[in-house]
Amino acid sequence: MIQIFKNAGYKIVEFEEKADIYIINTCTVTNMSDRKSRQILRQAKKNNPDSIVVAVGCYVQVAKEEIEKIDEIDLCLGTNEKTNILKYVEQAIEFKKTNIKLEDVMYNKEYGDFGSVTYTEKTRAVIKVQDGCDRFCTYCIIPYARGRVRSRKPENILKEIKEISKNGIKEVVITGIHVASYGKDFEKKYELIDLLEEINKIDGIERIRLRFNRAIINNRKFYRKNYKVR
Ligand code: SF4
Repeated sequence: MIQIFKNAGYKIVEFEEKADIYIINTCTVTNMSDRKSRQILRQAKKNNPDSIVVAVGCYVQVAKEEIEKIDEIDLCLGTNEKTNILKYVEQAIEFKKTNIKLEDVMYNKEYGDFGSVTYTEKTRAVIKVQDGCDRFCTYCIIPYARGRVRSRKPENILKEIKEISKNGIKEVVITGIHVASYGKDFEKKYELIDLLEEINKIDGIERIRLRFNRAIINNRKFYRKNYKVR
């Protein structure tokens, strides 16, 4: 999301600085992260009462009713709407009214690709290759916040890694919500191992790491009542 705003000419500042727009990418893996998300959204408006405060991401996706009670928020975007954040923020600035954009992630079948990112680290890059999870473990809220497995197209991943390897990046960290499910949603058989083998052939890449999600515990199972598992 930072890259999208940078490309459009916005200046990125630290949270503590006075800003015109605050974007809070919320988390919902525990009750503590929900609370922190609410606190920081309120804090943003205190930093600059004239700013546009935008709540994005997982907590927004699963707790619309709680988010609606926070007066400090001007715009709420769920998991699917992140890739169009610039358009929604500029509409919020123009029309100055509170807005909530939230699609049911369970219907989402396409990976939301943000495109290539400019990396600030000199030798390592984190590459997200998939989103969502189909496992629906009893204690975990992730499938309700992120939806079903959607894999990023291999050609887009390989293009990004080839670009960054030319800029001196030697190590890639492959990540996602449930990385082992990579490719499960493709019509033609193409799995994580196929992707790794192709990455391994790219000149300049010396190390490939896999980053897996830890099991996520969330005791707010009641959210499940509001969603049908398809
Ligand atoms: S714990 Fe992991 S595998 Fe289970 S539903 Fe959550 S993200 Fe999926």
